[in-house]
Amino acid sequence: MKTSKRICKNGSLTLPKQVRAEAGLFPGNAVDVETQSDGSITIKPAAPCCHFCGSPEHLINVENIVICKDCATKILAKVDVTND
Ligand SMILES: [Zn+2]
Repeated sequence: MKTSKRICKNGSLTLPKQVRAEAGLFPGNAVDVETQSDGSITIKPAAPCCHFCGSPEHLINVENIVICKDCATKILAKVDVTND
């Protein structure tokens, strides 16, 4: 996704919801911000976090989707309910 945004008076920049969703970023997540020699700026998650809740703890990787054990447990509970 490509979009244009204005930097606020205090220097902050809000990442569009779709960009955050595509990048798996959640409020409170740390990001690495780096300037490039071509003038571009990259923003990357500073550490892996859960695709669903953003937790950085107790992570597992399922088919290249990072998910925490709490969310995995919640998903499994829903699967069990739908099988009843
Ligand atoms: Zn989670």
